[in-house]
Amino acid sequence: MTPIVRFAPSPTGNIHIGNSRTALVNWLYAEKHNGQFILRYDDTDKARSKQEYADQILKDLNWLGIEPDRIERQSGRFSAYDEAAENLRAHGLLYACYETPDELDRKRKRQLARGLPPIYDRAGLNLTAEQKQALEAEGRNAHWRFLLPNFDGSTENLVRTPVTWNDVVRGEQTIDLASMSDPVLIREDGTYLYTLPSVVDDIEMGVTHIIRGDDHVTNTAAQIAIFEALGAKSPDFGHHNLLTTASGEGLSKRLGSLSIASLNEDGYEPMAVASLAVLIGTSGAVEAITTMEELIQRFDPSTITKSAAKFDVAELDSLNKKLVHAKPYSNARQKLEAAGIGGGEDFWNVVRENIEKLPEAADWWQMVEHATPVIDKDDVEFLQQARTLLPDQPWGEETWTEWTSLIKQQTGRKGRALFMPLRKAMTGREHGPELAAILLLIGREKTLARLAGARALPV
Ligand code: GLU
Repeated sequence: MTPIVRFAPSPTGNIHIGNSRTALVNWLYAEKHNGQFILRYDDTDKARSKQEYADQILKDLNWLGIEPDRIERQSGRFSAYDEAAENLRAHGLLYACYETPDELDRKRKRQLARGLPPIYDRAGLNLTAEQKQALEAEGRNAHWRFLLPNFDGSTENLVRTPVTWNDVVRGEQTIDLASMSDPVLIREDGTYLYTLPSVVDDIEMGVTHIIRGDDHVTNTAAQIAIFEALGAKSPDFGHHNLLTTASGEGLSKRLGSLSIASLNEDGYEPMAVASLAVLIGTSGAVEAITTMEELIQRFDPSTITKSAAKFDVAELDSLNKKLVHAKPYSNARQKLEAAGIGGGEDFWNVVRENIEKLPEAADWWQMVEHATPVIDKDDVEFLQQARTLLPDQPWGEETWTEWTSLIKQQTGRKGRALFMPLRKAMTGREHGPELAAILLLIGREKTLARLAGARALPV
């Protein structure tokens, strides 16, 4: 069977690294098994969903290397949800309730005070047509609950009803439906919560595996019951652990700094983000994986641990640095060119070891093109001498050694006293890539000009 998975974000904000974990785990699962990946916008909440977020989510997925096989929108499928809701109503499985949030809260508090579990008492089920009319005449609108199949004979007679599934990530899971309230499927303003549309779509789209965060484990039990109520076989489920911030807080779409869009803008490598998002919180090592193909090989959902995984930017920085240091020019070229960074392969091979994120190469390119020499008074004469000793072209790898041996002989300087004035004059800085390589990048004319203290070449 070819797996069909889906990633179902609500386009109500930018996706963050935690959401990308869900997307990637689904994508890797599909790729590993030659399956299909559906991007399904969970946009039934018309007021909060925005096209710009939907567009950005697709961009973010593409940036990470995910190319959905199919894109669907729930906002275009209300008639299918209405039909399913009608079907459930016709079977007495979707019933109207009229309690306000405050009333529900009071009910729960009373139950807890009496040592009872705070489960909805199904009062809505016992309302007569007249009572419903009277409540509506008061200005109340019904919200609609799904009747869980957790009773024997009378709906008040709850019996243990274990729902068990073999979770792709967590192994065998069991939830007792008698421990849950009947879930609300339709709000009092007539809008759908994600629970029913998601099941309707999963059935119609032939989804075989629902892989999502472990905050959905309880929903899964209710949704399995809904699949059955709609006459469908439920797909397989997998629940991965969630990422938290380093201080243990849940990630939220409001945490702009960890959005995929901002990580992209900050110059992170997509494979650094993908490696961390997938390998963190697993029993395997978190490593910088270079290609999606390798990540597909490495990925094994059963290695995901059960406890939450802490996302730490320092770890992302360290993976990113490793990828940049090893990044071949062929891979970096497009981005370097787009950022107006010249110098080709020679330049890239010299600077990549000195940067942590690719865009930082711009700063070194600026150094090659337009450094402002820094020359101490005591070094003016020394640099003049060095200037006269600069070998003629053609230059090669040995030019630097050739030149500095001559300087050493003629001036008697060595070590830091020899190299630092050259570095500061040639690059305007005290640190940086090997001078032997910089010399070749800068070339003879610029070196001569800089040793004489000139910022620009004479025209
Ligand atoms: N929009 C839901 C969420 O992001 C989808 C849950 C699901 O994958 O079924 O939590």
